[in-house]
Amino acid sequence: MRQDQEDPYQRRSARVYAGAGRVGRGPAAPHGGVLYDAVLLDRDGTLIEDVPYNGDPEKVRPLPGVRAALDRLRAAGLRLAVVTNQSGLARGYFDEEQMRAVHARVEELLGGFDAWLVCPHDDADGCDCRKPSPGLVHAAARELGTSASRCVLVGDIGRDVGAALAAGAAGVLVPTPVTRPEEIAAAGWVAPDLPSAVDEILRRQRAVQPARDADGVGTALVVRSDSAGDVLVTGPAIRAVAAGARRVVLLCGPRGRAAAELLPGVDEIIEHPLPWIDPAPTPVDPDDMRRLTARLAAVGADEAVVFTSFHQSALPLALLLRMAGITRIAAISDDYPGALVDIRHRVPAGVPEPERALSLAAAAGHRLPAGDEPVLRLRDGAVASRPAAVGDPGYVVLHPGSAASSRACPTELAARIAGALSAAGHRVLVTGGPDERTVTARVAAAGGTDLGGTTDLAGLAALVADAAAVVVGNTGPAHLAAAAGVPVVSLFAPTVPFGQWGPYRVPTVRLGDAGAPCRDTRAASCPVPGHPCLSGVDPAEVVEAVRTLTVSGGGVR
Ligand SMILES: [Zn+2]
Repeated sequence: MRQDQEDPYQRRSARVYAGAGRVGRGPAAPHGGVLYDAVLLDRDGTLIEDVPYNGDPEKVRPLPGVRAALDRLRAAGLRLAVVTNQSGLARGYFDEEQMRAVHARVEELLGGFDAWLVCPHDDADGCDCRKPSPGLVHAAARELGTSASRCVLVGDIGRDVGAALAAGAAGVLVPTPVTRPEEIAAAGWVAPDLPSAVDEILRRQRAVQPARDADGVGTALVVRSDSAGDVLVTGPAIRAVAAGARRVVLLCGPRGRAAAELLPGVDEIIEHPLPWIDPAPTPVDPDDMRRLTARLAAVGADEAVVFTSFHQSALPLALLLRMAGITRIAAISDDYPGALVDIRHRVPAGVPEPERALSLAAAAGHRLPAGDEPVLRLRDGAVASRPAAVGDPGYVVLHPGSAASSRACPTELAARIAGALSAAGHRVLVTGGPDERTVTARVAAAGGTDLGGTTDLAGLAALVADAAAVVVGNTGPAHLAAAAGVPVVSLFAPTVPFGQWGPYRVPTVRLGDAGAPCRDTRAASCPVPGHPCLSGVDPAEVVEAVRTLTVSGGGVR
């Protein structure tokens, strides 16, 4: 094509520039369990001082510590790309030649980048690459020979984090004085500056790699009590243990049983409620505890790995495991474990639950094998077939309920969302458990098909797997969507941290008031009248989020 002809595709898509310092590394070595291949960096306010619409190389000023931080990433083998909105091009404040001169100066001061991805558009262009749309992140991943889910993006405003999540990448916010408080509240991962963000990226990368691989284990007992979502997010860690063990036995609770059946790597399931974990526990029955201990002893495990979430204690079970004769026990415990735990692991706050669990597996000497991505997955053949009555794939699943009402979408709002999605041309399937039929019927009446109470978890997994997107609160089906690689519009009540419990490594748009008073309360029922964290969501935002997630990139696997 001649230079003076306009390429209609080029006009609407990101421009890709090779970095001057491009090192031309091949794809990352096939080494199991690596979280990230590449770090994507916003330019203005993240790498260099933000000089609005700068076309002058003399005005390029790196932020403190950035050069050394980038060199730490390079030394660790991570590839680097810049992903930047430059609407000054669309607005004619500078031309492409001036921009290239600025980028050359950035590389002179900060070292080479493997690629530069630039959105030259303005909001009015409606392109798919201007952050928070995910186009630049997808383009960067392609350019670097990896996938968005193996990238982490660092930027200083909500648009950066939004683009990362919408592509299925991790996003770190490094706030500056221009960052709005609501952007900080909504981000799942916040670091004070780029050097700190880099330290945490490298720490998380190392944390899932064993210092020393465990010797072959015969039988491993893994434990994850609590609900379906808890079991699903522990899946990658259980696969890591399974990779180094001949047999894996999973102890779970009754509410997690159906999810346990869906996990790869599990050879046998023991179902038993744990009264120190269950939200509505029955009194401790000494005979029942003795029966459980005997059952655990009969497993003959060479090691036990006890997975918990950040507000649960592994220690009561560790005592029973000791009484069952298990001599090697690994667990996360901030509380002093004395003689109850052999591998005591600790994890800072804010780490995604799947990585938190993977880091415990790594502390016990287990890693995911090469080729097994650190993503949620379901066992082949475990997912039921989709009922023919729901029609072709490509519908939107709307799941309003949650076992914890504080994390459910208000029925009236869910009905308006169903109406808005239908009006926008989507086929909407409304799902829910047998006890949520009244809600699903009311929601579906506003626009959609009521499937409340018609599927078990495996059936719901089948429905979700063929959806274009899933609209759901912070509850089990969000993790089913992540396991299927289906994009999620997350109506996320901030009762627990989004960075820990948000849908993992799947394109996501987060909606709702992240700064609402229920934040970090872990409340099961909403402590604030009117459920304000979610009731303020505008159905038009949900329609727009579905568009963002399905137009560019879409599903990732
Ligand atoms: Zn663009």
